[in-house]
Amino acid sequence: MPEPTPQALSYYRSGNVLWIVDNVWGLLVPAAFLFTGFSATMRGWSYRIGKKWFFAIALYFIVFSAVTFVLDLPRVYYEGFVREYAYGLSNQTFAKWASDQLTGLVVGIVGGVAFLWVPYLLLKRSPRRWWLYTGLAAIPFIVLVALVQPIWVDPLFNTFGPMKDRALEADILHLAERAGIEGSRVFEVAKSEDTKAVNAYVAGFGATKRIVLWDTIIAKLNRQQLLVVMGHEMGHYVLGHVWKQILILSSLIVVALYAVHRASGWLIAKHRARFGFEALSDVASLPLILILFGVASLVVTPVALAVSRHFEHEADRFGLEITRDNHAAATAFVTLQQENLGVPRPGPIYTWWRESHPPLGERIDFSNDYRPWEKNEPLVYADRFKVP
Ligand SMILES: [Zn+2]
Repeated sequence: MPEPTPQALSYYRSGNVLWIVDNVWGLLVPAAFLFTGFSATMRGWSYRIGKKWFFAIALYFIVFSAVTFVLDLPRVYYEGFVREYAYGLSNQTFAKWASDQLTGLVVGIVGGVAFLWVPYLLLKRSPRRWWLYTGLAAIPFIVLVALVQPIWVDPLFNTFGPMKDRALEADILHLAERAGIEGSRVFEVAKSEDTKAVNAYVAGFGATKRIVLWDTIIAKLNRQQLLVVMGHEMGHYVLGHVWKQILILSSLIVVALYAVHRASGWLIAKHRARFGFEALSDVASLPLILILFGVASLVVTPVALAVSRHFEHEADRFGLEITRDNHAAATAFVTLQQENLGVPRPGPIYTWWRESHPPLGERIDFSNDYRPWEKNEPLVYADRFKVP
């Protein structure tokens, strides 16, 4: 495992500072909407123009999204464009960055207009149990998002297609066949127009479930390394990590919404004159809900990330068991560390609040050490794939 470069350390340290700035900013902006009474003013406009309850909520959300988008633009420009260039991680033109931002805004508005009325209807109908019903309603919503995102949303940002390297594709399809996955589900995405960083992931749900490889990772890893990475992604697929994550996420959402429910009553009672609304069922409460949900999320994030790190570790194990290629796995992670300016052993606060994957140092160690087949020990996932 190579030491992190000075540049990687600087990216890591400044990233931690930015993470704090982002979190504070993410609370300050809605707080400003709330305490200046601007949120209530926007709600007033929305009702005057939209007249009906549904249209007022939709209009409020459109104005709210547009204003926060503009306020956020300098920060997002620095973090997502300037800084990525400064660290040599970006390939993106300004035009592509700008169009991606606008696309993101439109997707967010369409999603919000389509679904924000649900929690507000539940708030109106059941002021005491809305948090539970909203959390339960979130399950089909997350499933729907997971289902349509790979086919309707992701292609708005990048071009997806079959793998270009036919020989490599044949190897991957052979591995997929051993893992019991239909081969048509492997995609290559032209991510090199955005970034130099490398990645692969599993997306979708049910009929849209797929494994996606960034073209950058195909360019940087050799055949054996790519097969171990694919083995890892197939592990997520075969072990059902997507739907397990959805269930865990939904239960954490219920917990966070309950915290919103408990704290909001007290805050509204205390500041109703400034806020300009009397109940959470008033759409002017959106910034308050976002603030409280944001704080609650910070509390439950370490739980969600610990679960995610566990799944990632098991996917690593699956990838090693199906390929038995320790060297390729370890060196693939070294490439990941170098190309993505990773730090192999980040501090505990970073790990608990920000790491969805085990630290690269641990993944490299595990890749080197995990060899049950050499000691005639049983494999954990022996029954999940065919031995060649
Ligand atoms: Zn993974």
